[in-house]
Amino acid sequence: MISPVRVRYAPSPTGLPHVGNIRTAFFNWLLARHTCGQFIVRIEDTDVARTVPGATEGILEGLKWLGIDWDEGPNNGGDFGPYFQSQRLDIYQKMAQQLISQGQAYYCHCSSQRLEQMRAAQIADKKPTGYDRHCRDAELDYTKGAVIRFKMPLDGSTSFNDSIRGKVTFENANLDDFVLLKSDGYPTYHLANIVDDNLMRISHVLRAEEWLSSTPKHILLYAAFGYPAPVFAHLPIILGSDRSKLSKRHGAVSILDYKEQGYLPETMINFLALLGWALDDKSEIFSREELIQNFSLERISQTSAIFNKEKLDWMNGVYIRKLPLPEFARLSLPFLENGLPSNVKRPLNTNYVEKVLPLVQERVKTLSETATAEISGFFFGENIEYDTSLLIDKKIGYQKTLDILQIARAKLDELETFEAPALELLLRNLIEEIGVKAGQLFGTLRTAVTGLTATPPLFQTMEVLGKNISLRRIDEAISKLGNYLPTEL
Ligand code: GLU
Repeated sequence: MISPVRVRYAPSPTGLPHVGNIRTAFFNWLLARHTCGQFIVRIEDTDVARTVPGATEGILEGLKWLGIDWDEGPNNGGDFGPYFQSQRLDIYQKMAQQLISQGQAYYCHCSSQRLEQMRAAQIADKKPTGYDRHCRDAELDYTKGAVIRFKMPLDGSTSFNDSIRGKVTFENANLDDFVLLKSDGYPTYHLANIVDDNLMRISHVLRAEEWLSSTPKHILLYAAFGYPAPVFAHLPIILGSDRSKLSKRHGAVSILDYKEQGYLPETMINFLALLGWALDDKSEIFSREELIQNFSLERISQTSAIFNKEKLDWMNGVYIRKLPLPEFARLSLPFLENGLPSNVKRPLNTNYVEKVLPLVQERVKTLSETATAEISGFFFGENIEYDTSLLIDKKIGYQKTLDILQIARAKLDELETFEAPALELLLRNLIEEIGVKAGQLFGTLRTAVTGLTATPPLFQTMEVLGKNISLRRIDEAISKLGNYLPTEL
């Protein structure tokens, strides 16, 4: 019988979950869902000094936000939580002891001072750094402060078949007698990771390329314990668009920053999937179901993935436009409440917001943009500010601009139903009458009512603003033009 796929996401809580980390989680999850296998989350919190408070919560929040759910874990009163290695220390201690009794590990009593001197001397002699195996054959017993080290084979090589990279070989002579158990009784990553992968029956290890050099150590540990090794797949590194390692310089790094900036989870998973995986050379938009259906290790590339922020923004715009309006409204409201200037009255008038949002939905790339001055400031602010020269159409000049604005103002005042179709009819007829081009009248009106030159469709915008505000702003524009004449023409 073929054993089911069981994969894990095993983050160390040393900071907020960054994009590369979550991509690893998502690829593991996709493989599990594609194969009807299982996905587990294991928090590798055995490096106490590097553990950052709040990191685990951030990791779990990121997973939940993206809909990356896990299939089992210790029961935390109803909901099952992830596994925590810090709650399993006795297991690793027992396994380290087992290797001692098998003669494959040894106690090392070297003081940190001795190790520092050793390292300094190695650097001074331009030799590779690494433990000099001082205690290896001394058969020392446990004393307080001792660590347990793995006895590496001194020669030969260690190979494994990586699903993405093919056969990878490391010379054993270059591998260190690494620490398995630290003096505080905590295991190192290597020991805890492979003990758990075995106990948790992990079939495939998909992890970032940076772990490739640890894999021969793991293969040798599996062999020492007599465990079968899982399938390894080392995922390509993610680079910024300048081809340097993805970092804060390239924008947000924590997945939660993207949440705060108003990216949608569906965008993020689609985008993350394409950081190293592709169905073909053209398809870009994939729903979660399509990703699950099509995901496979064979389609993961060896070459580094480039994080293209423009593409992410474009993709988020695509997903925002796909949202049903009520959903867009529900998601945008908190961004509007937080992002609009403080002089806009709170709570916002939901009726009004619901009229504004359809016009905004077409134009934004992130939910936070819904509250910006360029996108919706003119819908919410009392006063709009703009340079008077923007009102004047260059072709028809100052005087004619002023004239048509006055004529339009008078006509609009007569209009009883201030709605887009009626506004359009009235203003299009007016163009004929006064003999200007559509763009000339509409451009001037657009600036008058919004203060901007690029906005949602003019008639709908005026309808949403309403007759009072639209006319008031046109009046202001007329008076701005009046004041403009003497000094600036
Ligand atoms: N704890 C390691 C990390 O933080 C896990 C690496 C692995 O998947 O083996 O990424």
